[in-house]
Amino acid sequence: MYEIKNAINGKLVSSNSDRKSQIFNPATGEQIGILPLSTDDEINAAVANAKAAQPAWGNLPPAKRARIMFKFLQLLNDNIDELARHISNEHGKTHEDALGECARGIEVVEFACGIPQMLKGEFSRNVGPAIDTFADRQPLGVVAGITPFNFPSMVPMWMYPMAIACGNAFILKPSERDPSASMFCFELFKQAGLPDGIFNIVHGDKSAVDCLLDHPDIKAISFVGSTPIAQYVYERGTKAGKRVQALGGAKNHMIIMPDADLDAAANALMGAGFGSAGERCMAISVAVPVGEETANKLVAKLKPMVEALKIGPANDETTEMGPLITKMHQEKVLNYIDQGEKAGAELVVDGRGFALQGYENGYFVGGTLFDNVKEDMSIYRDEIFGPVLSVVRKNSFEDALDLIHGHEYANGTAIFTRDGDAARAFADRVEVGMVGINVPIPVPVAYHSFGGWKSSSFGGHGIYGPEAVHFYTRLKTITTRWPTGVKEGAVFTFPS
Ligand code: NAD
Repeated sequence: MYEIKNAINGKLVSSNSDRKSQIFNPATGEQIGILPLSTDDEINAAVANAKAAQPAWGNLPPAKRARIMFKFLQLLNDNIDELARHISNEHGKTHEDALGECARGIEVVEFACGIPQMLKGEFSRNVGPAIDTFADRQPLGVVAGITPFNFPSMVPMWMYPMAIACGNAFILKPSERDPSASMFCFELFKQAGLPDGIFNIVHGDKSAVDCLLDHPDIKAISFVGSTPIAQYVYERGTKAGKRVQALGGAKNHMIIMPDADLDAAANALMGAGFGSAGERCMAISVAVPVGEETANKLVAKLKPMVEALKIGPANDETTEMGPLITKMHQEKVLNYIDQGEKAGAELVVDGRGFALQGYENGYFVGGTLFDNVKEDMSIYRDEIFGPVLSVVRKNSFEDALDLIHGHEYANGTAIFTRDGDAARAFADRVEVGMVGINVPIPVPVAYHSFGGWKSSSFGGHGIYGPEAVHFYTRLKTITTRWPTGVKEGAVFTFPS
């Protein structure tokens, strides 16, 4: 059994806290590690070290910071298999899926390598007599990130590479469930030559988060997690005077139009609904076929596919879907299936009672398909975050759009159609942050930015991409007069 340490000022430090959290292998249910729930003193020490280290880093020419990012990028690519193994071990997702997550995180590091170009600023010559104006984006100082369990490597990488490339020092508080991927990245970043104190990792729960939210030397907070906590982090962090971006939960709908390629739509629903056991904020959890005939055909295609899902541990190469993250979460998902059945939804494939020889204590739930789900049912309203796909039948495109608009979440959505008019109307009108047209999981590439609308995001800033440069820097605009010899008396009117 391993013990996770904090990473403070370039060193791994054992915590003195008597509060600990356990780390489990979700495929077997056995405890594999222990994680400290750090004390306020330990977190304050990390912030103080980061604050001391940041000015030199922020003053380094951006091209020199970029060179360290390039080395980090190389090390990540050289060690991607090991990084993926850390993820699968603690999270349970398959090796291929973990590799995909790593690749999407590494993309952000690639983007961060171009930081000199992104920090170039603006310059206007002769805005007045011998007067020039230039606008510059400067780092904030020390910033922090708080991340969820479901992408233990990628979501932290949505944050720290851009924050650090912009010249900030970063404190990461990863999920208690699967911290090892980020600890491995810390080692690689150090090997790449990152100065001590610029990337720090502290472990903990609510108390650590509160300490970061209230700390006067932390200037900005990036949060990704469930909506109630996102809202809490946003409110407490902004009250403490910080810049906060807080991305929350989701319930993503996919409309299937009568003219869609139904085989493509069914395949897309399988991957987007059951990949990573449905534990993705961009998972499709609601299929909305338009018209009874579309719905009947779609459900007939999906039923045998869901029944045939290959469920197992991450280290079995034939596994398509792994376990859920914890026993508690497994019980929560099973409870939702009970609720859906009681509420009168048609249980087409029942994932309860799934068992795998040799893995009886793993947190597995079988793929589950509900048809004729109604808007007032908890399986429709709540984010289940498990392998449960609900079919809500609608009779027209307008009704399907209204359904999406009636939901509190608005992270991602998709439409499958061959009709350009319907696709364009959907893209124009749907009130959701990320939209796929015949693309089930439209997670933007690293040189765009990621973010939902409504209860899926608080703070208005997208994460990574160009919006990250704005989030992790502040604008300074300087107006200069050279030469100084321009003759002017005292001027009492506003400069024009
Ligand atoms: P979570 O909200 O339970 O935890 C997220 C982080 O908040 C963790 O670091 C955790 O330690 C901390 N935390 C937990 N309870 C807290 C409290 N009471 N006060 C302060 N901090 C607290 O989320 P999770 O279960 O780890 O992750 C799953 C959730 O994350 C899902 O809702 C999913 O949709 C969401 N998510 C959203 C996105 C997105 O981009 N919108 C991406 C990934 C995951």
